[in-house]
Amino acid sequence: MKLPDFTEFEPFVELRRAMGARKRGHFELFDPERHLTGRERSELDREGRYLPWTRLKHLADDTWGYKNTRLAVYLSEAEDYHLAQCEVTQTWEAGAYVWISTRRTGPLPLGPEQETRKQVCAHCLQLLGYKGFDLHRNRKIAYSKQLLKTFSRDEFFKVYKLYPVQGVGER
Ligand SMILES: [Zn+2]
Repeated sequence: MKLPDFTEFEPFVELRRAMGARKRGHFELFDPERHLTGRERSELDREGRYLPWTRLKHLADDTWGYKNTRLAVYLSEAEDYHLAQCEVTQTWEAGAYVWISTRRTGPLPLGPEQETRKQVCAHCLQLLGYKGFDLHRNRKIAYSKQLLKTFSRDEFFKVYKLYPVQGVGER
């Protein structure tokens, strides 16, 4: 059977033109290895996911990534959750499993049935210098403690865009 040559098929040529893709393959195709599916996105929000932390991406701006989203990363037993590659996360062993979630507000999920209330990690905010956060400078301590108290993940993920992460390299 001879397949039609779609490369010159006028509606497709038209479509490529409309997309601004002058060359074939100029636009990015969906790749499940690198892009979250809709289902994964809702799963990360509702249930989180439990996986070896070595599967996470070390994004070049010091935040954590999984495929093309940023994340909160946490251990079920620890008090804090992490938004960056802080010194605490550096101590995780190679085989350790962590929870990840993209939930913007409230408690973080531990699977479909459970959730946990955690504090944002101060080391993470220090590393990022988030909104001028700095517990090492006397004149910033009161401000930083206040920021820690009123911290909003939702706001954080507007500064460090939650999804989709584009054009940020990896370490
Ligand atoms: Zn941290």
